[in-house]
Amino acid sequence: MNVELINTGSELMLGRVLNTHQQWLCRRLADLGYVVTRQVAVADAGPDIEQAVREALARADLVLTTGGLGPTSDDLTRDLIAQLLGKKLHEDAAIVQHIEQFFNSRKRPMPASTRVQAMVPEGAIVLANPNGTAPGLAMKVKDGAWKPENGTQVSSPSTLNPQPSTSSKWLIMLPGPPRELRPMFNDTVVPLLHRVLPLDHEYVCRTLRTVGIGESQVADKIGGPLREILALGLDLGYCAHIGAVDIRLAAQGPHATELVREAEALVRAQLSAHIFAEDDETLEAVIVRVLTERKQTLALAESCTGGGIANRLTNVPGASAVLLASLVTYANEAKQKFLGVSSATLTAYGAVSETVAREMAEGARRKTGADFALSVTGIAGPGGGSDAKPVGTVFIGLASPDETIVLKQFNPFDRETFKNVTGTQALEVLRRILLTLE
Ligand code: ATP
Ligand code: MG
Repeated sequence: MNVELINTGSELMLGRVLNTHQQWLCRRLADLGYVVTRQVAVADAGPDIEQAVREALARADLVLTTGGLGPTSDDLTRDLIAQLLGKKLHEDAAIVQHIEQFFNSRKRPMPASTRVQAMVPEGAIVLANPNGTAPGLAMKVKDGAWKPENGTQVSSPSTLNPQPSTSSKWLIMLPGPPRELRPMFNDTVVPLLHRVLPLDHEYVCRTLRTVGIGESQVADKIGGPLREILALGLDLGYCAHIGAVDIRLAAQGPHATELVREAEALVRAQLSAHIFAEDDETLEAVIVRVLTERKQTLALAESCTGGGIANRLTNVPGASAVLLASLVTYANEAKQKFLGVSSATLTAYGAVSETVAREMAEGARRKTGADFALSVTGIAGPGGGSDAKPVGTVFIGLASPDETIVLKQFNPFDRETFKNVTGTQALEVLRRILLTLE
């Protein structure tokens, strides 16, 4: 199956918006067994979009476009594609009604321009957009049934690709805003693909997420045990993130499920406690889930992470059931005033010290009444380091009902990476205590 993705938007070409659809859609499609073979981004300019779609249709079985379905003058995708395929557009009454309801429910007048989003090319399937006004559109396109470039006859696609796997193709247009595109893809595009472009073989994919171990160590540990299964067709991939490594296990064919299941068991046996989640779950989501199950609460005393750990936790729906407070105490006075860190400790050991991390965590636990409190105090740099405490030094404290532990880490990275890695390490300290892992 040949799958191509076209991201439209001048803001992408100007570097004003990061093309997150490229990553998100490629990842989702790959996990479903529809690996994207080519991806392009083009500006919101008629000829560029038209040419990109024409070229992709000539090669692919499935073409997805993103963006340009809205009501403004730079939203050209729907009209251009209808023209390219020689399809007339008609107004769809159900979409008009959806748009009217959308504005009514927000108590806003419906701008006349938004009606253009109810225009549907002949024969297209409408993909509902509960989070916005422009629906997605899916069209079955017969091989070669598009306007050639500038009237000059292009080579017929069947000569470009002598054995296309399907005699017709599918073209799916998705809206630009991620909060509209993602649910639409999951809820309507995935079932549509299974129906109209089923894979001719079983495909299974699983991601195991690890923390606290480097990519090469992961590879060293699992490479040997997986050798036999790799020879049987297991596809193994690594993806290193800041402070975490994902292991992707995939297989296709009649034995796909068994291969992936066996591989997963071997990887778990090697990496056990390092595996914190499966597929898309984040470390912070694991923490929220486990604390919620145990009906326990958490407080944070953050210095060098500047509230970053609280930010991550509050991105998880349901965090309010577990997170009581995050005290971002950057100055020494704030550590004293809000957490009860003693001035004698600060003078004797300095703000970046094991003792201060301990007092911060215990203070946060005492002041908030939380079951657990995490603290972080460190030197993010680039200035402020010394021989004894170089830039990157950080102490992570965890006060729990039984004891307080403090971990010293060294994260000599740029500030943003330092904050991210430190946050991951702090959450991991808590995960290990919660799950009583080594
Ligand atoms: P709208 O109705 O909002 O105009 P649209 O379907 O016409 O939606 P665009 O106008 O192309 O989509 O994009 C709308 C917004 O969606 C952009 O301003 C941008 O913030 C976001 N967006 C578009 N494409 C991408 C992308 N590839 N990655 C991330 N965000 C994107
Ligand atoms: Mg738009």
